[in-house]
Amino acid sequence: MNSLEKFQLFIAVPSVLAFALIEAIILSRRQRYDWRAFGVSALDLVARIAVGIALPLSIAAPLVRLAFEHRLMTIHPVGWIALPLLFIGQEFCYYWYHRAAHRVRWFWSNHAVHHSPSQLNLSAAFRIGVLGKLTGTALFFVPLAWIGFAPRIVVAVLSTMAVCWWCSIACLAPT
Ligand SMILES: [Zn+2]
Repeated sequence: MNSLEKFQLFIAVPSVLAFALIEAIILSRRQRYDWRAFGVSALDLVARIAVGIALPLSIAAPLVRLAFEHRLMTIHPVGWIALPLLFIGQEFCYYWYHRAAHRVRWFWSNHAVHHSPSQLNLSAAFRIGVLGKLTGTALFFVPLAWIGFAPRIVVAVLSTMAVCWWCSIACLAPT
């Protein structure tokens, strides 16, 4: 298990589950809460990690590797300029991924599951499908590798941003 997988397994996943569980407990005291949907989302999260460990490469990996080998510069993500640049770049790339996921059937085949919950809550944010490595989600993040961010850093940031409320709100808004 590499450091990214350890980060996802021991920090990102427990954090996102804890926040979603806290939200679920608070919401369930105020209104009806769909605990089965929460379970399905949690299952999707665990299955995605299992697929990630069993299938360590994505179909986009050669292009990501090529872009990073021919990067413009090497950017260390810790810094006053690099961190905001990574955040903005990640959001930019994610926007185009998300747009394509709604317009291109190939990407929609994995993304559709994200829009299957009937309630807008944090658990919907981590129900993003298990086949992202096969559909090539990482293709949209190639520009970040090309300008100089290490692919594992890009993936780590993307993993933590999956818990972002903005993402879930933007994603579940009517199209
Ligand atoms: Zn969406």
